[in-house]
Amino acid sequence: MPAHPNTLAGKTIRKMQSAAAPRRLAVLLSFLLTAACQSPPQMIAAANPFAAEAGRDILNAGGSAVDAAIAAELVLTLVEPQSSGVGGGAFLLHYDGQSQEVSAYDGRETAPAAATADLFLDAEGKPMSFWDAVVGGRSVGVPGLLRLFETAHRAHGRLPWPRLFEAAIDLAESGFPVSPRLHELVARDKHLRRFEAAKAYFYDRDDQPHAVGHRLQNPAYADTLRRIARDGAEAFYNGPIAADIVASVRGAVGNPGAMSLADLAAYEAKARPVLCLPYRRWQICGMPPPTSGGVAVLQTMGILAHFDLAGLGPESPQALHLVAEASRLAFADRGLFLADPDFVTVPVEELLDPAYLADRAALISPTRSLGKAEPGLPAPQASMPRQDDPPSTTHLAVADRWGNVVSMTASIESAFGSRLMVRGFLLNNELTDFSFLPRSAGRAVANRVEGGKRPRSSMSPTLVLDDQGALVMAVGSPGGSRIPGYVVKTLVASLDWGLDMQAAIAFPNFVNRNGATDLEEGTPLARMAPDLEALGHEVRVRPMTSGAHGFRVTDEGLDGGADPRREGVVLTR
Ligand code: GLU
Repeated sequence: MPAHPNTLAGKTIRKMQSAAAPRRLAVLLSFLLTAACQSPPQMIAAANPFAAEAGRDILNAGGSAVDAAIAAELVLTLVEPQSSGVGGGAFLLHYDGQSQEVSAYDGRETAPAAATADLFLDAEGKPMSFWDAVVGGRSVGVPGLLRLFETAHRAHGRLPWPRLFEAAIDLAESGFPVSPRLHELVARDKHLRRFEAAKAYFYDRDDQPHAVGHRLQNPAYADTLRRIARDGAEAFYNGPIAADIVASVRGAVGNPGAMSLADLAAYEAKARPVLCLPYRRWQICGMPPPTSGGVAVLQTMGILAHFDLAGLGPESPQALHLVAEASRLAFADRGLFLADPDFVTVPVEELLDPAYLADRAALISPTRSLGKAEPGLPAPQASMPRQDDPPSTTHLAVADRWGNVVSMTASIESAFGSRLMVRGFLLNNELTDFSFLPRSAGRAVANRVEGGKRPRSSMSPTLVLDDQGALVMAVGSPGGSRIPGYVVKTLVASLDWGLDMQAAIAFPNFVNRNGATDLEEGTPLARMAPDLEALGHEVRVRPMTSGAHGFRVTDEGLDGGADPRREGVVLTR
């Protein structure tokens, strides 16, 4: 794999500038002219065309990958409100094109300080039903997105902070056409209209969801953004916006939460040590806990490194069997160990130890599924994985002209989050990513609710580097606890099977979370069900709406992909 084209171009220019002879100057000028005519090696892949355009415009204006990611996500809050936004959180990986350093930023929501382990238990001590827990104030975590942006912008931003807000403010004021997906999700939702602010925004005067193409304006969001553009993230975490968030959470009729002004004022985004693991001739880098995604993707790939997937190829039930079994083993560990590392000890090093992963790989039989895998390390605690696949969350990938790259997954958890809307944006329901049960099998659950703790996530923003540290790929996806599976599929399809990025993302999904093996409905893969059943898999054929976005560095430049299952696009210039 060649070094990143930007890095090469940068080095060439510096070398040639030191030459004094006029002939050399002419060569330099012609080189610069050619370089200027070529499309800059920059790209954004995101879940909505308006958001991708906002990011692309920032790149064209000389913004960095982080600048573009921020501008795009502020537009996603508006145009893809079901998925993510300033009322939620995100995990962001950054690759520095100069130093080749990878940094990981955690903007995950926190539980209010007053939250206790029984947050999601009813009067009899039984877990609440999921939707009873989600809708209202109880599930709302302290949003992390804007503190994350402030931290990342300080470290990697090039354009002034207010500039990043312009596109979203303009679009919120002038209005954007309701997309088919937004329309469908509003029409399908049973809870949004229970709350006045969301009802007034998402439905027309006849109480119908706005039609596809209806121009939806959001002056309240424009006003929110204007304040944050002017006064920084502080304007969100202290002052009138914070006061309205707290009032909305505490005043949610029937299901209030306990968030306080002090919780918002205390929120911190965190830089965390990135996790990288060798995979064949590459390094795969992921986000550490409190998401389980990085560990799950790296463990699965570390186990798969012991098998010849390229030799088996994409049409082989045997390859599917191996990927499903590797993921099954990773999910057995995930269920027991993964939670907020600031509250429980997560044995990340042991879980990613190559010798341990070799032992785990040895458990896989080529002829028979493990059925149910057991965790592989001694268990200090126990946890309970949740098993849903909500239609929300968003992933974007950006490369700027200096070779810096962002891979970011952002979420408000369920579609439309808690359904509480404040000043033009929705509040998350991320606290339902905690285990509802504080104890299980006589032990405290690692992912139980605690005040100030971050709920375990599955979000898996990923970067792949070559053995020289040059960037090879950026990718990630929404999909709840199927996220690690969607990312693993894309990595295997691209790295092992050689599919281009669009084909790797579009390749039918197949996922195992230490239970049934799910095959994507309506795809040729579903026809492999009998082969997998013969290997002992319980197979379920079902829709699997991933939303993967990313790109790969090739000899010809950046090769991007947007998931055809959602509304995303790839833009270069
Ligand atoms: N809240 C989920 C998580 O953090 C993501 C939900 C989704 O992908 O829709 O893992």
